[in-house]
This record gives sequence, C-alpha cells and structure tokens, in this order.
Amino acid sequence: HGTGVTVLGLGAMGSALAAALLDADHETTVWNRTPERAAGLAARGAKPASSIGEAVTAHQLVIACLLDHASVHETLDPVIGRMRGSALVNLTTTTPNEARELATWAAAHGVDYLDGAIMATPPMIGTPAASILYSGSDEVFAATRPVLDRWATSTYDGEDSGLASLFDLAMLSGMYTMFAGFLHGAAMAGSVGVSATEFAARATPFLSAMTAGFAHDAAVIDRGDYTVPGQQSLDFSDLSHIVRASEEQGVDPAPIAAVQVLISRQIAEGHGAEGFARLYESLRADRADL
Ligand code: NDP
Repeated sequence: HGTGVTVLGLGAMGSALAAALLDADHETTVWNRTPERAAGLAARGAKPASSIGEAVTAHQLVIACLLDHASVHETLDPVIGRMRGSALVNLTTTTPNEARELATWAAAHGVDYLDGAIMATPPMIGTPAASILYSGSDEVFAATRPVLDRWATSTYDGEDSGLASLFDLAMLSGMYTMFAGFLHGAAMAGSVGVSATEFAARATPFLSAMTAGFAHDAAVIDRGDYTVPGQQSLDFSDLSHIVRASEEQGVDPAPIAAVQVLISRQIAEGHGAEGFARLYESLRADRADL
C-alpha cells in the first residue's frame, strides 16, 4: 500500500485523480461538497469522509481539486486550523497571485503548500499524455512524488507558488489564441460553403508546420535585436488585407484585427522594417517604450 491521501473535490478532474490513486492501491479518503458524488469511488474502495474536518485529518497529504480560488477558501477556511503539519497540494486552477495568496495563508497555519496546474483532461490522467506542473514547497514535491507521478509527468517549476499557474495560463493563452484564429479561418472558408471539417483537414498540417516558427521568433526576442535579416518585415506583413477580406466575406475579423492592432502599434513606433517577433515588445510586462 502506498501513502494515504485525501482528495477534496470529486468533479470530473478530482474523480479521475482519486480513481488513479485507487488503481495504484493508495488508501484514499474522498470528500465532495455534494456527498452523492463519492458513491462511484466508494464502490471502488475509496473512503468517503463524513465531514470536511474528518477528510483533512484522515491523512497528512491533502489534495484539493475544487472549482476556483474562492471555493478553496470556502472549503478549507473552517478547518485549516486543524491541518498544522499537513501538506496541501492544490490542483484547483487559480491565477499566479491566487496561488501565492494560498501559499501564504497555508504557511500561516503551519501547512506546507504545493500548487499544481493540470495540463490534461480527466481521461488523460494516469496516461503518458498527461502533464502536471508544480511550484511551491520543494519538500512537498519531493516527498509526494510517488503519489504525483501516478497522475502524469510531474514537472517542478520552482519555490514561487505562482509559477505553475503562470506557465499553465501562458500556454493556454497561446492555445486559445490559435484556436480562435482557426475558428476565424473556418468562418472565412465557411462563407463560401466549405465545411469546418474540410477546413480543419487543410489547416492542420499548415498550422502544425508553422509552430516551428516559435523557436525562430524566440531566438530573435532573446537576442533583443529585431532587425536581424531574413525576417519578413512588419510593413510587409501588415494584415489589413486579411481584415478586409474577412469583412468582404461578411465574417467578423475580431481575432485577426487584434493581431493587426499589435502590428500597427509597432509600425507607428517606427519599427515597420523589423520582424514579426517585434510584437512581443508591445506585450511584455516591463516595456519601457512601445
Ligand atoms: P467540475 O465542474 O467537474 O467539478 C467542480 C468541483 O468543485 C466539484 O467537486 C464541486 O462540488 C466543487 N465545488 C465547486 N464550488 C465549490 C465550493 N464553493 N465549495 C466546495 N466545492 C466546490 O470541474 P473539474 O473537476 O473539471 O475541475 C476541477 C478543477 O480542475 C478546476 O479548477 C479546473 O479548472 C481544473 N482543471 C480541469 C480540467 C478539465 O479538463 N476538467 C483540466 C485542467 C484543470 P459539487 O459536486 O458539490 O458541485
């Protein structure tokens, strides 16, 4: 038998996490605000706790997979005083600052805090495709590794509890922006009767190949010299023709227009001869000038 673990939150994700622990023979205590949701896991050997107090004192290791930052406080505020010496691994999605706030709050009650960001859907938990990022207490990460590795490839990003959320949300920002671009393209193709399925088949190999450009842009950004030769200039890659084509087809250009705004900003600042990676300068946190 492995380490005993308590799992708080038996939604789609919490249930998948608890199920993977049961599969690996960990003694697993489960708690959910709506207790009926524990029935399936109980039938597989999990112990349903009759109260949140019982849940958080059943084991030294407590996993939370609730809805959001507020729900973690709502659930644990009444019992945090009984958790001194426990390790809290919070896999609930939060912003970096929300994770840092939880780490400070946990520390004030003698609880070691590790934040986690799940880069997977529930069915992926326990398969090689799943990845979970962690940050916060390195001691908790090291000590709970045998449990964490049941779920996914575990990556530790550092002692700042906000880092796992930060990397998670940074990657999701890229993903959602690309998806919005895909949907915009599908709507343009759809304006002449092409099905989204047909567009997806044509766009996927092209867009996949284009992601190789990330490394090129990254090298330009990290060198800090956007004038290096061999790049397509911003003047040349002005996207007003795509915005216009979208409008001509009756398709809302919002996703591509947002990119065009960033390009125009750099051109207006006199950087039209520089490459596309220059858009980074409009976005970065510590920009001194646009
Ligand atoms: P679900 O909507 O399936 O479940 C939400 C869970 O949170 C339920 O157990 C619910 O309890 C509980 N909950 C909500 N509000 C409160 C509250 N105020 N107090 C106590 N418990 C509360 O969501 P998921 O399981 O899919 O997601 C859980 C977390 O995992 C989220 O933060 C999500 O962002 C993250 N995540 C999910 C992924 C996914 O693909 N599903 C991927 C990556 C991260 P009740 O049953 O009583 O309503």
